Amino acid sequence: MNVTENRDRKGLPRTTKGLSPELLRERQKTEAVGSIAAPASIDCRVAATTRLSSVLRPLSSGLRGKLSFDEPMSRHTSWRAGGMAARFYQPVDLDDLRVFLCSLPPDEPLLVVGLGSNLLVRDGGVGGSVLLLHGALKELAVQEDGLIYAQAGVPGAKLARFAALHGRSGAEFFAGIPGTLGGMLAMNAGCYGGETWQHVVKVQVMTRSGELIERTPQEYEIGYRSVARIQDRGLRIEDRGELAGFSHSSFLAPHSSEEFFVGAWLSFEQGNGETARRQIKELLAKRIVSQPLSLPNAGSVFRNPPGDHAARLIEMCGLKGRRIGGAQVSDKHANFIVNVGNATAANIENLIILVRETVEKQTGVLLHPEVKIIGEYAKHG
Ligand SMILES: Cc1cc2nc3c(=O)[nH]c(=O)nc-3n(C[C@H](O)[C@H](O)[C@H](O)COP(=O)(O)OP(=O)(O)OC[C@H]3O[C@@H](n4cnc5c(N)ncnc54)[C@H](O)[C@@H]3O)c2cc1C
Repeated sequence: MNVTENRDRKGLPRTTKGLSPELLRERQKTEAVGSIAAPASIDCRVAATTRLSSVLRPLSSGLRGKLSFDEPMSRHTSWRAGGMAARFYQPVDLDDLRVFLCSLPPDEPLLVVGLGSNLLVRDGGVGGSVLLLHGALKELAVQEDGLIYAQAGVPGAKLARFAALHGRSGAEFFAGIPGTLGGMLAMNAGCYGGETWQHVVKVQVMTRSGELIERTPQEYEIGYRSVARIQDRGLRIEDRGELAGFSHSSFLAPHSSEEFFVGAWLSFEQGNGETARRQIKELLAKRIVSQPLSLPNAGSVFRNPPGDHAARLIEMCGLKGRRIGGAQVSDKHANFIVNVGNATAANIENLIILVRETVEKQTGVLLHPEVKIIGEYAKHG
């Protein structure tokens, strides 16, 4: 296991504040232990019997991934802003992920993150555990039946190039989305007429207790930038937020998901790899012209309202260039908010609120955010 921590100049962990001497000793012991080989596969029911009450117990249960405490989420979100994750884990593979999950208390809040390209973590950070799948679950293969199996940590650009390399067409649009397959499944991400779930034959999910399950698209309600398990309808915090309208408390992404995507089997037409590669190049060139890619951002902040474009409405209201602290409505694309330097999550969120209220006042259209905003407000400032 690889434990990383923020340290002060004396080499002491910065994150000891508030920890009991027992927990402190536990952490020091773990750092000394170093790497311990995990079993090839873990039965969570067995592991559960030895589950320990403290969330720090996983430290001694054979993890092979990277565990850290008080991890700045600004390192893992494309806005490069926001608070810390109390605990943060990047597994090595599915077995390791299962070990981690089995070791957590059942009520530990869990947030799954890919490339953080659609995510704002408030400055007060997130309690519980954040699970980083980017750089972790990265298997990618063509199966005998012709389907492409990709794990949740695979970035869109890699998936698009892999499909082209294997003579598939229809996957090019993934190259324009700077997210992981897991995040793209969760968001039904898409562009230029393509959408993630158009290509899904089956998904592979992992439950909080480490069980692997395969599900079909029929088990989900799939919409424009939204995906919900049919049995969960009406329960998602996100849905409640939608009904209640924008408010600080309801505008939350699911923070404690019961299961999450770890892979998918995708189907694409047979095509010409060379043509697909050319289309990827063209698509990326188009994005460079139309999007403010040189500054940290999270893509489109708001969903397009039916029959219109959020960017058009925002621009019409004279909001291009409007700034709060280090957050600015992009001059290049009005539905993007860019971090022009040291923006706090509060700067970004306040600008989102300002844009939303202004557009509603001037046009009567209530915009719905596409980005997920999670976590606590900073106590000061
Ligand atoms: C420059 C730029 C351009 C963009 N263009 C587009 C575009 O054209 N089309 C588009 O749709 N989006 C676009 N986006 C937004 C973003 O890339 C997508 O929403 C993408 O799907 C997010 O993937 P991610 O891995 O970064 O997810 P994250 O931002 O890490 O997470 C987003 C949400 O998905 C959840 N999640 C992440 N992984 C999993 C998982 N494995 N299982 C379950 N839930 C999970 C998270 O908990 C969170 O609620 C753009 C973003 C940027 C910065």
